[in-house]
Amino acid sequence: MGECPYCGKDVDFTEVCPHCGADLSEFDDRCPFCGVLISRAALICPRCGSDVYEFWYGD
Ligand SMILES: [Zn+2]
Ligand SMILES: [Zn+2]
Repeated sequence: MGECPYCGKDVDFTEVCPHCGADLSEFDDRCPFCGVLISRAALICPRCGSDVYEFWYGD
């Protein structure tokens, strides 16, 4: 469960947002800081700017 980056509503990990119809297939995780759906390949959260790469893969 996370937040759709397009409409801001709570969604499960799914291909298409049930609220706004946005393509969510590229998002496979959620930001541990603000909860928005993001790609696991992301370096920083586009919503809150947190360093998620450091959080996931940092020592
Ligand atoms: Zn949406
Ligand atoms: Zn965030």
